Amino acid sequence: MSELKQIDQTYIANTYARFPVEIVSGKGSILVDETGKEYIDMGSGIAVNAFGVGDEVWKQAVTEQINLVQHTSNLYYTAPGPRLAKLLCEKTGMKKVFFGNSGAEANECAIKVARKYAAEKKGPDCFTIVTLWNSFHGRTITTLAATGQNHYHELFQPLTPGFVHAKANDLDDVIRVAEAQPTAAVMLECVQGEGGVVALDEDFVKGVAQYAAAHDILLITDEVQCGNGRSGALYAYMNYGVQPDIVTTAKGIGGGLPLGACLLGEKVQNVFGPGDHGSTFGANPVCCAGGVSILSRIDDALLADVREKSAYIFKALGGAPGIKCVTGMGLMIGILPEKKTAREVVDLCIEKGVLCLTAKDRVRLLPALNIPMETLKKAVEVIRNACAE
Ligand code: PLP
Repeated sequence: MSELKQIDQTYIANTYARFPVEIVSGKGSILVDETGKEYIDMGSGIAVNAFGVGDEVWKQAVTEQINLVQHTSNLYYTAPGPRLAKLLCEKTGMKKVFFGNSGAEANECAIKVARKYAAEKKGPDCFTIVTLWNSFHGRTITTLAATGQNHYHELFQPLTPGFVHAKANDLDDVIRVAEAQPTAAVMLECVQGEGGVVALDEDFVKGVAQYAAAHDILLITDEVQCGNGRSGALYAYMNYGVQPDIVTTAKGIGGGLPLGACLLGEKVQNVFGPGDHGSTFGANPVCCAGGVSILSRIDDALLADVREKSAYIFKALGGAPGIKCVTGMGLMIGILPEKKTAREVVDLCIEKGVLCLTAKDRVRLLPALNIPMETLKKAVEVIRNACAE
């Protein structure tokens, strides 16, 4: 490990504060390091490995496609992209899909669609997008501008203009901010992930959706982290009884390969024309074949299971010694420790063989959707003890 760490530190750009763990293999929700030590994986690659590591159905889908053709570009038809798009539209009622490779790219696509729609309908001054304080939408210069956390902005000015932020759970503030200039769209995460795993209030999200619809302002929900079953619904907006105009997603939909999607609803389905947008790797057949194998298994039974495991975590950790509160939705959970920092809790858990994440001052849990109940119980026990110690 020390040799690997040294090579990593010498040759890899210095952008990640890694935990001192080298993963060499895994199966399901168990990861194995170079010494053979096993860990329960409560992060699933930051909400990516929806069905854990080495999921046989996904592996078969991607290897079958690799054996046929791994990439063709978007100049030719290949089957997995359209198949996945059809499945996404059938399951959501959205009308068309643009595929990219990441969450940031899915959001870039949404922003371009919103700006073109608004420019054509309301004129060239209508380009502003309202996002929420504490949000996270990606790390490109434009999605950083959308991200409502100033500390991400400071070193990278000037960012793309045309983004303003409003307070989460404060409809009056959203309206005040939106009415300060012509506004094209409001973009929000129903469950803010990087912002500390905070689910927005239902009344607020409904209020924003109603206000936006009444003013022909587009509603974009960023489902990069909270989507694809993680919230206990297929997409988190479905828990709120609203219908977004644009939904962006990535992470879990690829099951471990890079895949992002921007879903376009009725109003915006025909905004793009040929040449307006594109991506060399977008709709890559291997990634999309894997995506079909993931999305087709996020059914009612799995979602009920996610909600049951979520209820278990809330019950086991809510009010436990050393825990101030438990937040989030589904298998997207934030734990605010009382006596230790989140990082201290995570370090203790690593020692005991459980891998968790952090988000701001919280310990963040994003386990695989199919984590076995027994494995989950063991991990929760370790986390509970780490907070109590
Ligand atoms: N949007 C949300 C809500 C996210 O949580 C993330 C990543 O954590 C992104 C966008 C950016 O996704 P990516 O890292 O795939 O570009």
